Amino acid sequence: MANLINPYTFSQQEKSTITPTSPNGDSNSDFWNDEQFASLRSNIRKHYREEQKGACCYCKSNLSHTGPGNCEIEHIAPRSRYKNFIFEPKNLAVSCQDCNRAKSDVDTIKPSSNKKPRKRYPIASNSFYIVHPHIDRYADHIKNDGDFYIPETDKGRFTVSACKLDLRLHQYGYTGDSNFLELLALTSELAKKMKNGAEISPSIKQFERFLDGLK
Ligand SMILES: [Zn+2]
Repeated sequence: MANLINPYTFSQQEKSTITPTSPNGDSNSDFWNDEQFASLRSNIRKHYREEQKGACCYCKSNLSHTGPGNCEIEHIAPRSRYKNFIFEPKNLAVSCQDCNRAKSDVDTIKPSSNKKPRKRYPIASNSFYIVHPHIDRYADHIKNDGDFYIPETDKGRFTVSACKLDLRLHQYGYTGDSNFLELLALTSELAKKMKNGAEISPSIKQFERFLDGLK
């Protein structure tokens, strides 16, 4: 699939500053925060903020328009685990502070088939556990309505869990029962089918099986 957001393009000057550290991966990942990369980080943030139309890549809430406060550069595959992808444009996006902090260093890349460390950045959707902002259409995996995030696929479930998107329901009394989210997903699916005039018998059966499982 074509890129959903355009990856950042490094200028020649920027390339010359990152070459010594990025491909070797022998440095502590904190070098990302070095002062020497301050303007680079600012350019990257600006680029993805525009590409993502000011919305967090994981929860779609509004990002701050200026400064890094609530518009953090997100390493989709965490930089602590994948030092060779720290400057990989397809591994970068912007997220809100809540999502970035919650996701932290959760691994998002599936192991390669030969179990060896990945040298090249994967581009296939099924190489990632997470809904990837460059590759996956968000709406195919998560139904979002206000503070409700209803996962509709395994990737959706992973993303809701990694970014703790269901925490936003706690303000309404949600206690963390995963059956609740499953029930929401089933209800949403049923409502969608009814709205579209689709056959709803399979969804009703699925509902009944789920309720039977709770007994
Ligand atoms: Zn977010």
